Amino acid sequence: MLILMQFGATDAQVKAVCAVLREKGIEPLELPGEDRVAVGVPASLSADQRIALEAILGRMDGVSKVTQTSSPFKLASLEFRRTKTLVEIKDVKIGPGHFAVMGGPCSVESLDQFRKAAEVVKQSGAKILRGGAFKPRTSPYSFQGLQLEGLKIIKQVAEETGLATISEVMSADMVEAVADHVDILQIGARSMQNFPLLVEAGKSQKPIFLKRGPSATLDEFLLASEYVLNEGNNQVILCERGIIAFDRAYTRNTLDLNAVPVLKELTHLPVVVDPSHGTGVARYVAAMAKAALVAGADGVMVEMHPDPKEALSDGSQALDSEQFSTMMDDLRGLAAYMHLTL
Ligand code: PEP
Ligand code: MN
Repeated sequence: MLILMQFGATDAQVKAVCAVLREKGIEPLELPGEDRVAVGVPASLSADQRIALEAILGRMDGVSKVTQTSSPFKLASLEFRRTKTLVEIKDVKIGPGHFAVMGGPCSVESLDQFRKAAEVVKQSGAKILRGGAFKPRTSPYSFQGLQLEGLKIIKQVAEETGLATISEVMSADMVEAVADHVDILQIGARSMQNFPLLVEAGKSQKPIFLKRGPSATLDEFLLASEYVLNEGNNQVILCERGIIAFDRAYTRNTLDLNAVPVLKELTHLPVVVDPSHGTGVARYVAAMAKAALVAGADGVMVEMHPDPKEALSDGSQALDSEQFSTMMDDLRGLAAYMHLTL
């Protein structure tokens, strides 16, 4: 439910609406808009509660109208928060007016490998360094990541380079440990509906980078983000990383670029695209990264490796140093054209 106040409604009138809601045990959400204020009701209401509230609120001074919101997600919805969210980490901004590039290897493999990758990321003008320390692998026999040692490497290289960092956390009990070592916590596609993890991430002070599950609808994706927002962490970044469609002969997943303009219409949260997992093929990555920028994404996450053929995970989709730098040059040109700061 959304209570739209009249133009010029006074602060006291808004407060009175909030007080009525609180009396009913509902915590209101004040939503300052460009020209008038709205008050959101994030809770789901029964039909009886809704009718009763509509009758009371609709008659109050300063109220223009009481409407029902259709979206199942509330805190993530653009109806509820009409200013787009800008996530800030160090001097990096993810959100309106900016295009953020996150680059780095799928997995942190050694200090030397990660330093080399970081150097390329930095020199090419990207500001966020990625690298998995805890790796969700389909097979238990595949490389599982350097885990705590990997986190230490990320922290060290961040200190050396000044880059912001992002790494995946796979379980609720590891949120604190990962948060101690990196700037952004990634929740992987396979964990999108790990609800205890989402709740714990919501309690963290760090921005959360939430990847869309390979078979998740956009409503499910936004409802997953709602778990984080509901704990009071507003710094959530959504990431489209490809979904499973019928043809996997040529690409690992189908990058759903439709999701970008649709999500932009539905939510105030920044939307980032991962063309690496989206295609699974290095030679298609730059094209889809550029397409993501033009489609309105707030950034891309791209896997790169100083020596892709030696990579311990996802080598076939990793750009080498030169390919990464060329992609960055192209993105810079497109960002300027779209009036975005890269
Ligand atoms: C990754 O970023 O390396 C990763 C495992 O991604 P996803 O969760 O999208 O598969
Ligand atoms: Mn990967």
